[in-house]
Amino acid sequence: MRADDPFLDRYAHGTKAMTASEIRALFAVASRPEIASLAGGMPYTAGLPFDVIGDVVADVLEREGPAALQYGGGHGDPRLRDALPELMAFEGIHASGEDVVITQGSQQALDILGRMFCDPGDVIVAEGPTYVGALSAFSQYQVEVRHVPMDADGLDPEILEQTLEQLKQEGRRAKFLYTVPNFHNPAGVTLAEERRDQVLELARRHRVLVLEDNPYGMLGFEGDPPAALRARDADNVVYLGTLSKVFCPGLRVGWALMPPALTERLVIVKEAADLSSSNLTQAIAYRYFAHYPWKETLKSLREVYRIRRDAVLEALDEAFIPEMGCTWTHPKGGFYVWLQLPEQLDARAMLAKAISARVAYVPGGAFYADGQGTSSLRLCYSFPPPERLQEGVRRLAGVVREELALARALDGMRAAGAGDALSRDPVRKTAGDGGARPRPQPPLPHDSRAVNPR
Ligand code: PMP
Repeated sequence: MRADDPFLDRYAHGTKAMTASEIRALFAVASRPEIASLAGGMPYTAGLPFDVIGDVVADVLEREGPAALQYGGGHGDPRLRDALPELMAFEGIHASGEDVVITQGSQQALDILGRMFCDPGDVIVAEGPTYVGALSAFSQYQVEVRHVPMDADGLDPEILEQTLEQLKQEGRRAKFLYTVPNFHNPAGVTLAEERRDQVLELARRHRVLVLEDNPYGMLGFEGDPPAALRARDADNVVYLGTLSKVFCPGLRVGWALMPPALTERLVIVKEAADLSSSNLTQAIAYRYFAHYPWKETLKSLREVYRIRRDAVLEALDEAFIPEMGCTWTHPKGGFYVWLQLPEQLDARAMLAKAISARVAYVPGGAFYADGQGTSSLRLCYSFPPPERLQEGVRRLAGVVREELALARALDGMRAAGAGDALSRDPVRKTAGDGGARPRPQPPLPHDSRAVNPR
Protein backbone atom coordinates (compact mmCIF):
# COMPACT_ATOMS: atom_id res chain seq x y z
CA MET A 1 0.00 0.00 0.00
CA ARG A 2 1.34 3.46 -0.90
CA ALA A 3 1.40 5.89 1.99
CA ASP A 4 0.57 8.69 -0.47
CA ASP A 5 -2.26 6.78 -2.20
CA PRO A 6 -4.67 9.53 -3.32
CA PHE A 7 -7.61 7.11 -3.42
CA LEU A 8 -7.14 5.70 0.06
CA ASP A 9 -10.23 7.38 1.49
CA ARG A 10 -12.43 5.99 -1.26
CA TYR A 11 -11.83 2.24 -1.27
CA ALA A 12 -14.66 -0.07 -0.20
CA HIS A 13 -14.28 -1.48 3.30
CA GLY A 14 -13.90 -5.02 1.99
CA THR A 15 -10.83 -4.21 -0.10
CA LYS A 16 -9.24 -1.53 2.07
CA ALA A 17 -7.28 -4.07 4.07
CA MET A 18 -5.64 -5.45 0.91
CA THR A 19 -2.10 -4.25 1.44
CA ALA A 20 1.21 -5.45 0.11
CA SER A 21 3.21 -7.16 2.83
CA GLU A 22 6.77 -8.14 3.55
CA ILE A 23 5.82 -11.64 2.43
CA ARG A 24 5.13 -10.35 -1.08
CA ALA A 25 8.72 -9.20 -1.34
CA LEU A 26 9.89 -12.57 -0.11
CA PHE A 27 7.81 -14.35 -2.73
CA ALA A 28 9.32 -12.27 -5.46
CA VAL A 29 12.67 -13.50 -4.20
CA ALA A 30 11.41 -17.07 -3.86
CA SER A 31 10.97 -17.37 -7.61
CA ARG A 32 14.69 -16.85 -8.19
CA PRO A 33 16.38 -19.92 -9.66
CA GLU A 34 18.75 -20.46 -6.72
CA ILE A 35 15.82 -20.83 -4.30
CA ALA A 36 14.35 -24.31 -3.77
CA SER A 37 10.73 -23.21 -3.46
CA LEU A 38 8.24 -25.34 -1.58
CA ALA A 39 5.99 -22.30 -1.41
CA GLY A 40 3.63 -21.80 -4.37
CA GLY A 41 1.18 -24.62 -5.12
CA MET A 42 1.56 -24.74 -8.89
CA PRO A 43 0.47 -27.83 -10.81
CA TYR A 44 3.18 -29.46 -12.95
CA THR A 45 1.93 -28.27 -16.34
CA ALA A 46 5.10 -29.52 -18.10
CA GLY A 47 3.68 -33.01 -17.49
CA LEU A 48 0.69 -32.36 -19.75
CA PRO A 49 0.42 -33.91 -23.24
CA PHE A 50 1.09 -30.85 -25.41
CA ASP A 51 0.60 -32.71 -28.67
CA VAL A 52 -2.86 -33.80 -27.58
CA ILE A 53 -3.76 -30.33 -26.33
CA GLY A 54 -2.55 -28.87 -29.64
CA ASP A 55 -4.88 -31.25 -31.49
CA VAL A 56 -7.79 -30.35 -29.22
CA VAL A 57 -7.30 -26.62 -29.75
CA ALA A 58 -7.01 -27.07 -33.54
CA ASP A 59 -10.12 -29.23 -33.50
CA VAL A 60 -12.11 -26.61 -31.61
CA LEU A 61 -11.12 -23.84 -34.01
CA GLU A 62 -11.75 -25.93 -37.09
CA ARG A 63 -15.12 -27.32 -36.04
CA GLU A 64 -16.65 -24.50 -34.07
CA GLY A 65 -14.39 -21.45 -34.45
CA PRO A 66 -16.99 -18.66 -34.71
CA ALA A 67 -19.09 -20.06 -31.84
CA ALA A 68 -16.05 -20.73 -29.65
CA LEU A 69 -14.90 -17.13 -30.11
CA GLN A 70 -18.35 -15.74 -29.32
CA TYR A 71 -19.92 -14.81 -25.94
CA GLY A 72 -21.44 -17.74 -24.12
CA GLY A 73 -24.27 -18.24 -21.66
CA GLY A 74 -23.87 -17.44 -17.97
CA HIS A 75 -24.71 -21.00 -16.94
CA GLY A 76 -21.85 -22.41 -19.03
CA ASP A 77 -21.45 -24.55 -22.16
CA PRO A 78 -24.21 -27.19 -21.91
CA ARG A 79 -21.94 -29.86 -23.43
CA LEU A 80 -19.32 -29.33 -20.76
CA ARG A 81 -21.97 -29.17 -18.03
CA ASP A 82 -23.31 -32.54 -19.19
CA ALA A 83 -19.79 -34.05 -19.37
CA LEU A 84 -18.69 -33.07 -15.85
CA PRO A 85 -21.04 -35.41 -13.97
CA GLU A 86 -18.94 -38.25 -15.43
CA LEU A 87 -15.91 -36.92 -13.52
CA MET A 88 -17.92 -36.43 -10.35
CA ALA A 89 -19.28 -39.98 -10.61
CA PHE A 90 -15.79 -41.15 -9.57
CA GLU A 91 -16.56 -39.57 -6.20
CA GLY A 92 -19.98 -41.17 -5.89
CA ILE A 93 -21.91 -38.12 -7.10
CA HIS A 94 -24.92 -38.59 -9.35
CA ALA A 95 -25.84 -35.22 -10.77
CA SER A 96 -27.48 -33.51 -13.70
CA GLY A 97 -25.64 -31.02 -15.88
CA GLU A 98 -28.58 -28.67 -15.14
CA ASP A 99 -27.20 -28.04 -11.65
CA VAL A 100 -23.62 -27.51 -12.83
CA VAL A 101 -22.59 -23.86 -13.22
CA ILE A 102 -19.28 -23.31 -14.99
CA THR A 103 -16.97 -20.82 -13.28
CA GLN A 104 -13.52 -19.39 -13.95
CA GLY A 105 -11.71 -21.84 -11.74
CA SER A 106 -13.17 -22.70 -8.38
CA GLN A 107 -11.67 -19.45 -7.12
CA GLN A 108 -14.42 -17.54 -8.91
CA ALA A 109 -17.03 -19.82 -7.37
CA LEU A 110 -15.67 -18.95 -3.91
CA ASP A 111 -15.95 -15.28 -4.72
CA ILE A 112 -19.47 -15.36 -6.10
CA LEU A 113 -20.73 -17.66 -3.35
CA GLY A 114 -19.29 -15.21 -0.81
CA ARG A 115 -21.11 -12.40 -2.62
CA MET A 116 -24.32 -14.41 -2.77
CA PHE A 117 -24.44 -15.31 0.93
CA CYS A 118 -22.34 -12.95 3.02
CA ASP A 119 -23.03 -9.52 4.46
CA PRO A 120 -20.46 -7.66 6.56
CA GLY A 121 -20.28 -9.17 10.04
CA ASP A 122 -21.63 -12.58 9.01
CA VAL A 123 -19.91 -15.67 10.34
CA ILE A 124 -18.57 -18.55 8.31
CA VAL A 125 -16.96 -21.70 9.66
CA ALA A 126 -13.83 -23.17 8.08
CA GLU A 127 -11.12 -25.64 8.94
CA GLY A 128 -8.09 -24.25 10.69
CA PRO A 129 -5.84 -23.96 8.76
CA THR A 130 -7.82 -23.31 5.59
CA TYR A 131 -7.21 -22.45 1.94
CA VAL A 132 -5.61 -19.03 1.73
CA GLY A 133 -7.49 -18.08 -1.47
CA ALA A 134 -10.82 -18.79 0.24
CA LEU A 135 -9.84 -16.44 3.06
CA SER A 136 -9.01 -13.81 0.43
CA ALA A 137 -12.29 -14.31 -1.39
CA PHE A 138 -14.49 -14.26 1.71
CA SER A 139 -12.66 -11.44 3.49
CA GLN A 140 -13.82 -9.02 0.78
CA TYR A 141 -17.32 -9.57 2.13
CA GLN A 142 -16.10 -8.76 5.63
CA VAL A 143 -17.02 -12.04 7.24
CA GLU A 144 -15.82 -13.35 10.55
CA VAL A 145 -14.16 -16.76 10.22
CA ARG A 146 -14.45 -19.32 13.03
CA HIS A 147 -11.84 -22.02 12.57
CA VAL A 148 -12.38 -25.65 13.52
CA PRO A 149 -9.15 -27.61 14.00
CA MET A 150 -8.24 -30.80 12.18
CA ASP A 151 -6.34 -33.91 13.13
CA ALA A 152 -4.99 -36.68 10.91
CA ASP A 153 -8.62 -37.58 10.06
CA GLY A 154 -9.55 -34.07 9.00
CA LEU A 155 -12.09 -31.70 10.51
CA ASP A 156 -12.95 -32.55 14.12
CA PRO A 157 -16.76 -33.03 14.30
CA GLU A 158 -16.87 -32.58 18.07
CA ILE A 159 -15.30 -29.16 17.87
CA LEU A 160 -17.49 -28.35 14.88
CA GLU A 161 -20.51 -29.13 17.04
CA GLN A 162 -19.19 -26.95 19.87
CA THR A 163 -18.57 -24.12 17.43
CA LEU A 164 -22.07 -24.30 15.96
CA GLU A 165 -23.60 -24.51 19.45
CA GLN A 166 -21.53 -21.56 20.59
CA LEU A 167 -22.78 -19.51 17.65
CA LYS A 168 -26.34 -20.48 18.51
CA GLN A 169 -25.84 -19.27 22.06
CA GLU A 170 -24.59 -15.99 20.62
CA GLY A 171 -27.80 -15.75 18.60
CA ARG A 172 -25.90 -16.21 15.34
CA ARG A 173 -25.77 -18.83 12.63
CA ALA A 174 -22.92 -19.47 10.23
CA LYS A 175 -23.75 -18.67 6.62
CA PHE A 176 -21.83 -21.74 5.55
CA LEU A 177 -19.19 -24.28 6.46
CA TYR A 178 -16.30 -24.05 4.00
CA THR A 179 -14.40 -27.34 3.86
CA VAL A 180 -11.74 -29.07 1.75
CA PRO A 181 -12.34 -32.71 2.69
CA ASN A 182 -9.79 -34.36 0.41
CA PHE A 183 -5.99 -33.93 0.48
CA HIS A 184 -6.43 -30.63 2.21
CA ASN A 185 -4.74 -27.42 1.16
CA PRO A 186 -2.71 -26.63 3.24
CA ALA A 187 -2.98 -29.46 5.83
CA GLY A 188 -2.57 -32.51 3.55
CA VAL A 189 -5.17 -34.55 5.50
CA THR A 190 -8.43 -36.19 4.36
CA LEU A 191 -11.76 -36.25 6.17
CA ALA A 192 -12.34 -39.82 7.38
CA GLU A 193 -15.30 -41.80 6.10
CA GLU A 194 -16.95 -42.04 9.51
CA ARG A 195 -16.79 -38.29 10.02
CA ARG A 196 -18.48 -37.35 6.76
CA ASP A 197 -22.04 -38.16 7.76
CA GLN A 198 -21.45 -36.61 11.18
CA VAL A 199 -20.38 -33.31 9.62
CA LEU A 200 -23.38 -33.33 7.27
CA GLU A 201 -25.81 -34.16 10.05
CA LEU A 202 -24.46 -31.28 12.17
CA ALA A 203 -24.71 -28.89 9.25
CA ARG A 204 -28.32 -29.89 8.57
CA ARG A 205 -29.26 -29.71 12.23
CA HIS A 206 -27.89 -26.17 12.48
CA ARG A 207 -29.21 -25.17 9.06
CA VAL A 208 -25.73 -24.37 7.80
CA LEU A 209 -24.98 -24.79 4.10
CA VAL A 210 -21.82 -26.80 3.28
CA LEU A 211 -19.31 -25.63 0.65
CA GLU A 212 -17.28 -28.66 -0.33
CA ASP A 213 -14.18 -27.49 -2.21
CA ASN A 214 -12.57 -30.46 -3.90
CA PRO A 215 -9.74 -29.64 -6.32
CA TYR A 216 -7.54 -32.58 -5.33
CA GLY A 217 -10.00 -35.46 -4.89
CA MET A 218 -8.86 -37.19 -8.07
CA LEU A 219 -5.20 -36.96 -7.12
CA GLY A 220 -5.10 -39.80 -4.61
CA PHE A 221 -1.89 -41.87 -4.51
CA GLU A 222 -3.15 -44.71 -2.36
CA GLY A 223 -6.67 -45.31 -3.59
CA ASP A 224 -9.57 -42.90 -3.79
CA PRO A 225 -10.89 -40.79 -0.93
CA PRO A 226 -14.30 -41.64 0.55
CA ALA A 227 -17.40 -40.59 -1.38
CA ALA A 228 -17.85 -36.83 -1.59
CA LEU A 229 -20.03 -34.94 0.90
CA ARG A 230 -22.19 -33.94 -2.03
CA ALA A 231 -22.78 -37.63 -2.85
CA ARG A 232 -24.43 -37.95 0.57
CA ASP A 233 -26.48 -34.76 0.63
CA ALA A 234 -27.54 -33.14 -2.63
CA ASP A 235 -29.75 -30.50 -1.02
CA ASN A 236 -27.38 -28.90 1.48
CA VAL A 237 -23.96 -29.20 -0.18
CA VAL A 238 -22.46 -26.98 -2.86
CA TYR A 239 -19.67 -28.95 -4.51
CA LEU A 240 -16.82 -27.06 -6.15
CA GLY A 241 -14.73 -28.76 -8.81
CA THR A 242 -11.96 -27.55 -11.07
CA LEU A 243 -9.90 -28.72 -14.02
CA SER A 244 -6.87 -26.87 -12.64
CA LYS A 245 -5.21 -29.88 -10.99
CA VAL A 246 -6.40 -32.69 -13.26
CA PHE A 247 -5.81 -30.75 -16.48
CA CYS A 248 -4.77 -27.09 -16.98
CA PRO A 249 -4.99 -24.27 -14.44
CA GLY A 250 -4.41 -21.83 -17.31
CA LEU A 251 -7.79 -22.69 -18.85
CA ARG A 252 -9.51 -21.28 -15.73
CA VAL A 253 -12.35 -23.79 -15.91
CA GLY A 254 -14.05 -24.84 -12.71
CA TRP A 255 -17.62 -25.49 -11.69
CA ALA A 256 -20.13 -25.44 -8.89
CA LEU A 257 -22.58 -28.29 -8.57
CA MET A 258 -25.44 -26.56 -6.81
CA PRO A 259 -28.32 -27.82 -4.71
CA PRO A 260 -31.15 -27.49 -7.28
CA ALA A 261 -32.83 -24.72 -5.28
CA LEU A 262 -29.73 -22.51 -5.58
CA THR A 263 -28.66 -23.00 -9.21
CA GLU A 264 -30.55 -20.16 -10.83
CA ARG A 265 -29.50 -17.59 -8.27
CA LEU A 266 -25.84 -18.47 -8.69
CA VAL A 267 -26.16 -18.05 -12.47
CA ILE A 268 -27.68 -14.59 -11.98
CA VAL A 269 -24.92 -13.51 -9.57
CA LYS A 270 -22.24 -14.87 -11.88
CA GLU A 271 -23.67 -13.13 -14.94
CA ALA A 272 -23.46 -9.86 -13.05
CA ALA A 273 -19.76 -10.55 -12.50
CA ASP A 274 -18.61 -11.66 -15.95
CA LEU A 275 -21.51 -12.25 -18.39
CA SER A 276 -20.05 -15.66 -19.17
CA SER A 277 -16.96 -17.78 -18.79
CA SER A 278 -14.74 -18.13 -21.85
CA ASN A 279 -16.50 -20.10 -24.55
CA LEU A 280 -13.13 -21.00 -26.03
CA THR A 281 -11.63 -22.62 -22.96
CA GLN A 282 -14.90 -24.40 -22.18
CA ALA A 283 -14.94 -25.84 -25.69
CA ILE A 284 -11.33 -27.00 -25.29
CA ALA A 285 -12.16 -28.60 -21.95
CA TYR A 286 -15.27 -30.27 -23.35
CA ARG A 287 -13.47 -31.79 -26.36
CA TYR A 288 -10.57 -32.96 -24.25
CA PHE A 289 -12.79 -34.79 -21.78
CA ALA A 290 -15.24 -36.07 -24.39
CA HIS A 291 -12.79 -37.28 -27.04
CA TYR A 292 -9.30 -37.77 -25.63
CA PRO A 293 -7.85 -40.28 -23.13
CA TRP A 294 -7.82 -37.92 -20.15
CA LYS A 295 -7.63 -40.76 -17.67
CA GLU A 296 -4.15 -41.60 -19.02
CA THR A 297 -2.98 -38.04 -18.38
CA LEU A 298 -4.47 -38.09 -14.92
CA LYS A 299 -2.73 -41.36 -14.16
CA SER A 300 0.65 -40.00 -15.17
CA LEU A 301 0.11 -36.74 -13.21
CA ARG A 302 -0.78 -38.76 -10.12
CA GLU A 303 2.42 -40.70 -10.52
CA VAL A 304 4.47 -37.50 -10.85
CA TYR A 305 2.93 -36.13 -7.64
CA ARG A 306 3.25 -39.43 -5.78
CA ILE A 307 6.97 -39.57 -6.52
CA ARG A 308 7.33 -35.97 -5.30
CA ARG A 309 5.31 -36.66 -2.16
CA ASP A 310 7.56 -39.64 -1.44
CA ALA A 311 10.68 -37.54 -2.02
CA VAL A 312 9.55 -34.89 0.45
CA LEU A 313 8.49 -37.37 3.13
CA GLU A 314 11.75 -39.28 2.77
CA ALA A 315 13.79 -36.08 3.09
CA LEU A 316 11.74 -34.97 6.12
CA ASP A 317 12.35 -38.32 7.80
CA GLU A 318 16.08 -38.03 7.19
CA ALA A 319 16.66 -34.34 7.89
CA PHE A 320 14.17 -33.60 10.67
CA ILE A 321 15.51 -35.88 13.39
CA PRO A 322 13.15 -36.53 16.33
CA GLU A 323 15.21 -34.33 18.69
CA MET A 324 14.07 -31.32 16.66
CA GLY A 325 10.51 -31.82 17.90
CA CYS A 326 8.83 -31.21 14.54
CA THR A 327 5.84 -33.16 13.25
CA TRP A 328 4.26 -33.24 9.81
CA THR A 329 1.28 -34.69 7.98
CA HIS A 330 1.50 -37.66 5.59
CA PRO A 331 -0.72 -36.79 2.63
CA LYS A 332 -2.25 -39.64 0.65
CA GLY A 333 -2.81 -37.35 -2.31
CA GLY A 334 -2.78 -33.73 -3.41
CA PHE A 335 0.11 -31.28 -3.13
CA TYR A 336 0.79 -30.36 0.50
CA VAL A 337 2.54 -31.28 3.73
CA TRP A 338 1.84 -29.29 6.90
CA LEU A 339 4.87 -28.98 9.15
CA GLN A 340 4.53 -28.16 12.83
CA LEU A 341 7.64 -26.60 14.34
CA PRO A 342 8.39 -26.50 18.06
CA GLU A 343 6.11 -23.81 19.36
CA GLN A 344 8.83 -21.38 20.33
CA LEU A 345 9.66 -20.83 16.64
CA ASP A 346 7.80 -18.38 14.45
CA ALA A 347 7.64 -19.54 10.82
CA ARG A 348 6.84 -16.09 9.51
CA ALA A 349 9.85 -14.49 11.15
CA MET A 350 12.00 -17.45 10.10
CA LEU A 351 11.16 -17.05 6.40
CA ALA A 352 13.76 -14.35 5.76
CA LYS A 353 16.44 -16.66 7.14
CA ALA A 354 15.11 -19.52 5.06
CA ILE A 355 15.29 -17.39 1.92
CA SER A 356 18.92 -16.58 2.77
CA ALA A 357 19.46 -20.32 3.02
CA ARG A 358 17.82 -20.62 -0.45
CA VAL A 359 14.59 -22.35 0.52
CA ALA A 360 11.02 -20.98 0.60
CA TYR A 361 7.74 -22.09 2.18
CA VAL A 362 4.46 -20.45 3.21
CA PRO A 363 4.23 -19.53 6.91
CA GLY A 364 1.26 -21.16 8.63
CA GLY A 365 -0.28 -17.90 9.81
CA ALA A 366 -1.36 -17.14 6.22
CA PHE A 367 -3.92 -19.95 6.46
CA TYR A 368 -5.79 -18.54 9.45
CA ALA A 369 -7.98 -15.47 9.72
CA ASP A 370 -7.28 -15.00 13.41
CA GLY A 371 -3.54 -15.10 14.05
CA GLN A 372 -3.13 -18.80 14.77
CA GLY A 373 -0.59 -21.01 13.02
CA THR A 374 2.54 -19.07 13.87
CA SER A 375 4.75 -22.09 14.48
CA SER A 376 3.64 -24.06 11.44
CA LEU A 377 4.28 -23.89 7.73
CA ARG A 378 3.12 -25.36 4.44
CA LEU A 379 5.36 -27.28 2.09
CA CYS A 380 4.17 -27.84 -1.47
CA TYR A 381 5.75 -30.64 -3.52
CA SER A 382 3.84 -30.33 -6.81
CA PHE A 383 6.25 -28.30 -8.89
CA PRO A 384 9.99 -28.80 -8.30
CA PRO A 385 11.62 -32.09 -9.33
CA PRO A 386 12.27 -34.61 -6.53
CA GLU A 387 15.98 -33.84 -6.03
CA ARG A 388 15.20 -30.15 -5.73
CA LEU A 389 12.48 -30.84 -3.19
CA GLN A 390 14.86 -32.92 -1.14
CA GLU A 391 17.51 -30.23 -1.28
CA GLY A 392 14.90 -27.71 -0.12
CA VAL A 393 13.90 -29.89 2.83
CA ARG A 394 17.55 -30.31 3.84
CA ARG A 395 18.11 -26.55 3.68
CA LEU A 396 14.97 -25.97 5.73
CA ALA A 397 16.10 -28.48 8.33
CA GLY A 398 19.39 -26.58 8.58
CA VAL A 399 17.53 -23.32 9.25
CA VAL A 400 15.24 -24.93 11.83
CA ARG A 401 18.22 -26.56 13.57
CA GLU A 402 20.00 -23.23 13.83
CA GLU A 403 16.91 -21.45 15.10
CA LEU A 404 16.29 -24.14 17.66
CA ALA A 405 19.86 -24.06 18.89
CA LEU A 406 19.58 -20.30 19.24
CA ALA A 407 16.19 -20.54 20.93
CA ARG A 408 17.45 -23.12 23.41
CA ALA A 409 20.57 -21.12 24.15
CA LEU A 410 18.46 -18.03 24.72
CA ASP A 411 16.07 -19.97 26.94
CA GLY A 412 19.02 -21.11 28.98
CA MET A 413 20.29 -17.55 29.31
CA ARG A 414 16.81 -16.29 30.09
CA ALA A 415 16.46 -18.90 32.81
CA ALA A 416 19.75 -17.54 34.16
CA GLY A 417 18.17 -14.07 34.37
CA ALA A 418 19.12 -12.35 31.11
CA GLY A 419 15.54 -12.34 29.76
CA ASP A 420 14.81 -8.73 28.88
CA ALA A 421 17.73 -8.15 26.61
CA LEU A 422 16.81 -11.21 24.59
CA SER A 423 13.14 -10.58 23.94
CA ARG A 424 13.84 -8.57 20.81
CA ASP A 425 14.98 -11.56 18.76
CA PRO A 426 12.60 -11.52 15.76
CA VAL A 427 12.39 -15.22 15.07
CA ARG A 428 11.42 -16.31 18.53
CA LYS A 429 8.11 -15.90 20.16
CA THR A 430 8.23 -13.71 23.21
CA ALA A 431 5.47 -15.03 25.44
CA GLY A 432 6.08 -14.25 29.08
CA ASP A 433 6.89 -17.85 29.87
CA GLY A 434 10.07 -17.77 27.83
CA GLY A 435 8.43 -18.52 24.51
CA ALA A 436 6.80 -21.79 25.40
CA ARG A 437 3.25 -20.72 24.48
CA PRO A 438 2.29 -19.30 21.08
CA ARG A 439 1.51 -15.62 21.13
CA PRO A 440 -1.54 -14.69 19.01
CA GLN A 441 -0.39 -12.50 16.17
CA PRO A 442 -2.36 -10.21 13.92
CA PRO A 443 -3.49 -11.91 10.73
CA LEU A 444 -1.26 -11.41 7.76
CA PRO A 445 -2.22 -8.40 5.71
CA HIS A 446 -4.82 -9.47 3.21
CA ASP A 447 -2.67 -9.19 0.15
CA SER A 448 -0.05 -11.53 1.49
CA ARG A 449 -2.65 -14.22 0.99
CA ALA A 450 -3.41 -13.14 -2.52
CA VAL A 451 0.30 -13.28 -3.31
CA ASN A 452 0.26 -17.01 -2.96
CA PRO A 453 -3.30 -17.95 -3.65
CA ARG A 454 -2.60 -21.47 -4.79
N1 PMP B 1 -9.59 -24.35 -3.66
C1 PMP B 1 -8.46 -24.88 -3.23
C2 PMP B 1 -8.46 -25.69 -1.97
C3 PMP B 1 -7.29 -24.71 -3.94
O1 PMP B 1 -6.16 -25.26 -3.50
C4 PMP B 1 -7.31 -23.92 -5.12
C5 PMP B 1 -6.07 -23.62 -5.91
N2 PMP B 1 -4.95 -24.10 -5.44
C6 PMP B 1 -8.53 -23.40 -5.53
C7 PMP B 1 -9.65 -23.63 -4.78
C8 PMP B 1 -8.66 -22.54 -6.76
O2 PMP B 1 -8.30 -23.22 -7.90
P1 PMP B 1 -8.78 -22.81 -9.34
O3 PMP B 1 -9.37 -21.43 -9.28
O4 PMP B 1 -7.57 -22.86 -10.19
O5 PMP B 1 -9.81 -23.81 -9.73
